[in-house]
Amino acid sequence: MKKAVIPFAAGILLLNAFLFGALSRHVVSYDIKARLVPETKSVEGHEVLSWTNDSEAAVSELQFHLYMNAFKNNRTTFIKESGGTSRGYKIDKKNWGYININKIAVQEGADLTGTMAYIQPDDQNPDDQTVMKVTLPAPVEPQQKITLVIDFTTKLPKVFARSGFFGNFFMIGQWFPKIGVLWNGDWNCHQYHAYSEFFADYGAYRAELTVPENFIVGATGKRTGETKNADGTKTYVHVQEDVHDFAWTACPEFVEFREKYTLDNPRVETEMILLVHRSHLKSKERYAQALRNGLEFYSRNYGPYPYETITLVDPAPGGMGAGGMEYPTLFTAGTTSWMPLGIRMPEMVTIHEFGHGYWYGIVGSNEFEEAWLDEGINSYSEVKAMNKYYGDDTSMLDICGVRMGDLVSQRLRVIGSGRFDPIVKRSWDYISGSSYSLNVYAKAALMMLTLERWLGEDVMSRIMKTYYERWKFRHPATKDFVQVAEEVSGQELGWFFSQVLYSPDRLDYAISDLRAEEINEPDGIFEGKTVEPKDSQAKRDAAIKPKTYRNTVVVARLGEWIFPQEILIVFGDGQKVRETWDGRDRWKRFVFTKPVKVVSAEVDPEHKLVLDVNYLNNSRILEPQKLVVARAALGFMHWLQGLLSLVSL
Ligand SMILES: [Zn+2]
Repeated sequence: MKKAVIPFAAGILLLNAFLFGALSRHVVSYDIKARLVPETKSVEGHEVLSWTNDSEAAVSELQFHLYMNAFKNNRTTFIKESGGTSRGYKIDKKNWGYININKIAVQEGADLTGTMAYIQPDDQNPDDQTVMKVTLPAPVEPQQKITLVIDFTTKLPKVFARSGFFGNFFMIGQWFPKIGVLWNGDWNCHQYHAYSEFFADYGAYRAELTVPENFIVGATGKRTGETKNADGTKTYVHVQEDVHDFAWTACPEFVEFREKYTLDNPRVETEMILLVHRSHLKSKERYAQALRNGLEFYSRNYGPYPYETITLVDPAPGGMGAGGMEYPTLFTAGTTSWMPLGIRMPEMVTIHEFGHGYWYGIVGSNEFEEAWLDEGINSYSEVKAMNKYYGDDTSMLDICGVRMGDLVSQRLRVIGSGRFDPIVKRSWDYISGSSYSLNVYAKAALMMLTLERWLGEDVMSRIMKTYYERWKFRHPATKDFVQVAEEVSGQELGWFFSQVLYSPDRLDYAISDLRAEEINEPDGIFEGKTVEPKDSQAKRDAAIKPKTYRNTVVVARLGEWIFPQEILIVFGDGQKVRETWDGRDRWKRFVFTKPVKVVSAEVDPEHKLVLDVNYLNNSRILEPQKLVVARAALGFMHWLQGLLSLVSL
């Protein structure tokens, strides 16, 4: 093996890149030449990959993701786990996808092709070829760099699970041989699973993308070159530093819009590039405004958008299997030609996927192992951004009198769900796709919103800014978020996170009993003597005396999670009493002896605990008929939940 640079010098280079200009430690650099062949739905690629061993031990084996092999046959781990269906799309058995490594070698050195072997670190499924290892002739020492050259062919599937083709629309993601992450002393290079996304190291990308000249191209990063070739093709050059993936798209039916976006506080200057399919031009301004909103919200609340471009890709009709997906500086949205204004699907998808640019792109969470750090924090940010720009009660739906905010839509995903899995779990260990998504998206978002209401918006805002600032362009774990939350709030929060992140249970407090009983005149045997309300005179006296009531409120903990509670009790004379309870026991009784009856009682009256799975049992009033209304409301919520599951991405 040829040592490209001596170890010490490579370490200095890596450090220099980081200290002087670069935003991240450049562990990798990719230089890829790729040619799209539309006729065969494939990409011919030549990749020069430099990788620096940023660990403290020598490494003699390299591991790579070959994601596209997930779609190679019906026995891959992805297809087995998903049953061949992803996001409502079935795999097309006439159009499997795969990636072939034609040659892999050390640059100007040993040919490693013969050492290639597929491995299955997660499930030992011998038919899964989504992870490959090669053995080096000599180890790569700490801080030493190795450069490899790889020739590969990627055959795209018909649009499925984020990438592929549909007609002449091509979304090319997870498409090149990608080195794993050497993390905590070992390779972190998981197989491609049905319910997981990705994890990679930061670095610099340069790609030369060749397509037929009538195709419009979008890609990660900034375009630095464009050449017309003699064979009727065009080559576009894109470069981007400080990212951990590269994706591109090509379609002759895109209409390209470019718009300069600037913000003064904080200072942001970037170029918005929208590639809208010509049948969806009606959605263009909706996409553009949502993207401006996203840029403003994220820059103001977390940190200024750091890249020179942001590209929105609108998949072709029929290509939505590639919609709603994030890549560094590029994401896919989704709409239809008939999308009514009051259904905020294009807006929500735009803000959500743009937001991933922060919680997956800039903060490099490990989506295989702790997907909530991306999807959950991003769904929380999405709720806040959607509510700010589209209204608390109308941020998801505002059509024909039906209104629904994003917070309610997140709650609907959690209400009535099974208690199988916690929020923190490896993505492929969930019982089902719906358990994965309700936990890492919705329940995690509700956890963040509950935390915000518990600590206060100011504190939460400082937590988020600190977490972003400290972990941008690095790889945090759950413990790092918890540490920031405790440090900034000055509170010990283990009691909260240990329940909500690691147990599959739920939060549900209720008013389980509410009654007002009149305290009567003495009647019965007292100290051996019979006492009766004596005579009609005494009864008349009792009648004119003010009555006294024993008012009882019982608050119950129906779920396993424990959270301190506030209870608001209202009496017949309008008096309001607030009580608190540590919420630990299964129930707590409050008794009030008063000349008036209790009218109502409510636990968590400000709805701070949005994690509470049932608001309908949070309050009671003395009149029994309200229960009927409550039941009807529950039925309506279940119906809405069903409706939502049809439209959610
Ligand atoms: Zn997402």
